[in-house]
Amino acid sequence: MKKTTKRTPLVEVRELKKYYPVHGGLLKRQVAEVKAVDDVSFAIFPGETLGLVGESGCGKTTVSKAILRLEEASAGEVIFEGEDVLAAGGADLKRLRRDMQIVFQDPFSSLDPRLPVGESIAEALLVHGIGTPQERFERVLEVLRKVGLESYHAARYPHQFSGGQRQRIGIARALILDPKFIVLDEPVSALDVSIQAQVLNLLSDLQAELGLTYLFVAHNLAVVEHISHRVAVMYLGRIAEIAPRDNLFSKPLHPYTQALMSAVPKKHPADKKERIILSGDVPSPLNPPSGCRFHPRCPIARMGHCDVEEPQLRELEPEHWVACHYAEEFI
Ligand code: SF4
Repeated sequence: MKKTTKRTPLVEVRELKKYYPVHGGLLKRQVAEVKAVDDVSFAIFPGETLGLVGESGCGKTTVSKAILRLEEASAGEVIFEGEDVLAAGGADLKRLRRDMQIVFQDPFSSLDPRLPVGESIAEALLVHGIGTPQERFERVLEVLRKVGLESYHAARYPHQFSGGQRQRIGIARALILDPKFIVLDEPVSALDVSIQAQVLNLLSDLQAELGLTYLFVAHNLAVVEHISHRVAVMYLGRIAEIAPRDNLFSKPLHPYTQALMSAVPKKHPADKKERIILSGDVPSPLNPPSGCRFHPRCPIARMGHCDVEEPQLRELEPEHWVACHYAEEFI
């Protein structure tokens, strides 16, 4: 009999929900909820990069912030090395936060313009009471070197750096506490294309060297294809499809993923795949469509079924999960 080895996730997101109350009327009572993230589950395995993609407003950034408790989730669990991050408090949460870091799209806004970057990078060491001033200084120089900057950069101010260098500083800040897991929230979207490749390669090199695990949040599919091992596609607060990168890009099974992929520039002129244009706008998460949330825009929706019954994620091929009643038609 073939032996199967079950991998243990580093991060496991279980039935995560984030609802925002909407208040109205004279008394400002709650009149509705925006369901930004609605029952999202996935796992991230040690040493891998999970890409999380979808149109803006699909909930991908909310998921990443809820995992790190930068936003409090409405319900669900985030298990990190066996501990529920969402239930942790005090010293336990502080310890978990050392292991879980984030790199933002715009590092400039998260750097204090009045502080030399060396001090900004060292800040987290101070907060966690780590090292003497000399040890902290040496650690800053070490991470600066790791991200391809020089020791003298520690004394410079944020405005003295280019966009690519600032993102390297953002990565240095995330690395300073020697984390295991980093959320990369659109880390190259604000950079020129030539610089994007350098930063992506740096992230891959750091992953190999330090054994890091990434959640890579982005809307640019070409970038996600470059860096991810597996990819999860979100639509209107839910996961539509999740699969190993090559499977997802060569044979997407969800009609929404197929439409997204059809918009990626073709690698070869002989590739004749037609672009699928979706009709209509993304519906509001305030009042998501019944049944399958994608049904008003889906080119193969079957009324009477798709608009009534919400499809659950099903594993149709090894590690390839799809939330569509009719995805078998594309296998
Ligand atoms: Fe389209 Fe129906 Fe599949 Fe939803 S469940 S993606 S509406 S075919």
